[in-house]
Amino acid sequence: MTNKPVRAPRQALDDLVPYDAKDVKADVVLASNENPCNIPSEVRTRILERTELFKFNRYPDPTAGELRKLIAEANGLEPENVLVGNGGDELIFDLLLAWGGPGRKILDMPPTFSMYAIDAHVTGTELLSVPRAPDFAVDQQAVLDQVADADVDIVVLSNPNNPTGNLTDESFLIDLLDATDAIVLVDEAYFEFSRHTMRPHMSRHSNLVILRTFSKAFSLAGLRVGYLLGHEDVVRELMKVRQPYSVDSFSQMVAATVFRERAAFEQSISDIVRGRDQISDGLSRLEGVTVFPSEANFVMFRVEHASALWRDLLHGHSVLVRDFSRGPGLADCLRVTVGTPEENDRFLEAVDGILSHRMESAARTSIEGEG
Ligand code: PMP
Repeated sequence: MTNKPVRAPRQALDDLVPYDAKDVKADVVLASNENPCNIPSEVRTRILERTELFKFNRYPDPTAGELRKLIAEANGLEPENVLVGNGGDELIFDLLLAWGGPGRKILDMPPTFSMYAIDAHVTGTELLSVPRAPDFAVDQQAVLDQVADADVDIVVLSNPNNPTGNLTDESFLIDLLDATDAIVLVDEAYFEFSRHTMRPHMSRHSNLVILRTFSKAFSLAGLRVGYLLGHEDVVRELMKVRQPYSVDSFSQMVAATVFRERAAFEQSISDIVRGRDQISDGLSRLEGVTVFPSEANFVMFRVEHASALWRDLLHGHSVLVRDFSRGPGLADCLRVTVGTPEENDRFLEAVDGILSHRMESAARTSIEGEG
């Protein structure tokens, strides 16, 4: 039997490339905004205790009841206002499935988290983008104009913004919520580092949806757990499109244990915030480096020949950061995730070494040129 070619999938996929998680090996991995520390040992002990009698043979609770209740209580909400997903990524996709789709529109503010645009494409949702200013501030008037003119269904804002690290004014977000009946998704994936949340505005704005994750501050990127907070009617609609068993019961149990014991993460969160300042200060002292202020667990910086620096960091020092230099609005930008104090030192020493070497070579070339 001849092996016939498979018929083509949806044409919309033609110009999509699969998400590249950039899984490059290195000794010091500062590329994906993870917590550099694994879960604290006392939390691990609690998880091991619960693993003993764990029912691996049973399907999970589709609503992640225990975790949902804990998250609701901590946020002064009802369980009906909480939806747990397979990472924040799944919840963004669910929102696009429910409020997006052919004939509908999402507005984002690039440079920002790339999954918004990818999910828009996959679900056939039209993407309207309002580019940020050169300092990465949101163009507030342009967003309000688009929302007024373009019949937008979803507005999504990463706050703090990944990959640039900056926060957007709360007063602007309130104006935006007032100005539209579109879903306004405020992605607070880095909330535990910024401590800024739109949660207090939920009671007055049923269109406000807040996204959080266990992947960053809570050291659970490997398990895939995120959650959103929203009006019960919004959550009910999302229930219609979600995969019922997307969050496995082991992840639910671990995330619930972590959330109960979340005080145990405070130390690592404040260490990371301190590490962020250490990195920002260290980079600012280097000639030719522009550092962008960050409220998250990463720092964006601009430097000439950024891709060459990325390569030298990896190949010369086994330090992996994220190269954004080919992204729109991000020419010569790299993003470094805050690591342990030792990793931060190693990163800073490596950048210093590479840039000093560059300057010496440039000086030598110009002297030789003069001679
Ligand atoms: N939102 C933002 C802004 C992010 O940076 C990330 C992770 N990179 C996510 C959502 C999704 O995180 P996760 O799926 O791991 O919960």
